Amino acid sequence: MLVHDTVGTGRSQAEIDQIRLSLQDRYAELSEEYEQAVQQSQVLRLVEVGDTAGDDQADSGTKTAERDTAQSLLRTILDRRAQYEHALTRLDEGTYGFCEGCSAPIPVERLEIFPSATTCVTCKQTRERRAA
Ligand SMILES: [Zn+2]
Repeated sequence: MLVHDTVGTGRSQAEIDQIRLSLQDRYAELSEEYEQAVQQSQVLRLVEVGDTAGDDQADSGTKTAERDTAQSLLRTILDRRAQYEHALTRLDEGTYGFCEGCSAPIPVERLEIFPSATTCVTCKQTRERRAA
């Protein structure tokens, strides 16, 4: 990493290494969660296949709901994992900690709570309003 990459945020290399480690930890955790969720949804599917005889409508409705829940959980985990991956990329580029919207430094307190945050609160709200 080049020295000028760290000047803007005032972060030392040790701090950046620390951030990278915690982002990577979280990324690994989410990968594990994803694997587990995949296995669970496969178990769900097996149960469903072996258990269709004699189902009434209410039963298959419950199973569809369970499968939807499992799928949305998988999506959520993947989304979050992608955010951490993105944050790691920005860390390598030296843009981590700066808002993607307005380029202002993201408050450290926000990064402590949301290490994968790539926008300040104001820009996040603006984006959400646009998406809504
Ligand atoms: Zn911003």
